[in-house]
Amino acid sequence: MARIESVAAELLHDKSLVNVVVRVRDSDGVEGVGEAWWGILDPEQPGRTASPIIAVVNDMLAPQLSGRDPEAIERLWYELWDWGYRYADQGIFLMGLSGVDLALWDLKGKRLDASVASLLGGPVSDGIPGYASLPRLREPDRLVAETARAMEAGFTAVKLHEIDPELTALLREEFGDAVQIMVDVNGHFDPLEAIAVGRRLSELGVTWFEEPVRPMRDHAAIARVGESIECDLAGGENEYTLEDFDRLLASGALAYLQPEITKIGGLTAARRVGVLAELYNVALCPHNFRLGPSLYASVQWAFTSFASKWIEVPWVPSDEAFSFPVALPPMRDGLVLPLEEPGLGCG
Ligand SMILES: [Mg+2]
Repeated sequence: MARIESVAAELLHDKSLVNVVVRVRDSDGVEGVGEAWWGILDPEQPGRTASPIIAVVNDMLAPQLSGRDPEAIERLWYELWDWGYRYADQGIFLMGLSGVDLALWDLKGKRLDASVASLLGGPVSDGIPGYASLPRLREPDRLVAETARAMEAGFTAVKLHEIDPELTALLREEFGDAVQIMVDVNGHFDPLEAIAVGRRLSELGVTWFEEPVRPMRDHAAIARVGESIECDLAGGENEYTLEDFDRLLASGALAYLQPEITKIGGLTAARRVGVLAELYNVALCPHNFRLGPSLYASVQWAFTSFASKWIEVPWVPSDEAFSFPVALPPMRDGLVLPLEEPGLGCG
C-alpha cells in the first residue's frame, strides 16, 4: 500500500494574484495538488495574510499525515478535524484542512486514473452555466470593457463587486438583456442601506444580490433584507460547518448557496453541504475566486449535485493573472463542461 511521504503548502506569487498550493506526495511518487484559501488581499505585500494558513498545513497537518494511506480520505478528514477541534471548527484550521483534502482527492484520482467527479458517481449533466466574476473595478469604462471581453470569451453572465448600483445600471444600459448580472457587495451595507440598494438592483433585473449586509453571517438581517426587496439573495462563502449551513438555510433567506471549497474543509465537506442544498432545495453555486486547483475542484464538485446552478469563474483584467499555471476550464455556449483528466483535472 502507498504511504504519504510529504505534505507541503507553498505560496505562489509569480503573478499579481497569489495561490496557496498544497502538494501531497506518496511513496509511489504520485503527487496530488490542492489549494487552500488565499487570504485577505494585501496589495503592498501579496500573500502576507496567507501565512497562518500555510503554517496550519506545514506545522500542524503535515506531521499528522506522514506514513498514512493517501486513499483513506474520509478517515483522514475526520481524524484531522477531530484532532484539530481545539483550534475551532472554523477559520484558518479548516482553510488548511481544505487544501490538504483537495490534494488528497487529486492524488486519489491520479492513482486510479479517473476524474474526481467520476469517482463520485459521474457528472450529473453535460454542462453547468458559468459566470465571469469580475474583481471590483470601480471605473465605468473598465467595467464595460471587461464585461465585453468576458462575453467575447463565451460568458452569458457576469458578477460585479461594485457597491454603487448605478454601475449595474450602466451595464444594463450598455448590454441590455444580453447578459445576466449578479452583484456582490461583500457585506458592505447595514440592513437599511442594503434594502435601498437591493430595491434599485431589483429594478435592474439582477439575478442575485450577494452578501448584502454586515456582519456577513447575520442571518436574521439577511432574511429581513430579502423580505423587503424583489430580487433573490445569494451567500454562504463565509460559513464553515454543516451546522452553519443548516442555520443559514433554515432562515429561508437565500435562493443561491455559495459555499467556498477552500474554507469549509475541501471536497469531503463540500459533498455534505451539497446534500444540504438538495434537502433545502436551493441552488448550489460553488464560490471561488482563484484560477487553480480550487476552481477545478469546484467544477468537479458542482458536477456531483443536481442542485448545482452556476459555477463562479474568476475573471481578471488582462494586466492581472493568477500565479498557478493553468487555463480556464473548458466552456461551450456559456456552460462549463465536465473535466475528464485524472484527479481534479488541472495537471
Ligand atoms: Mg462573494
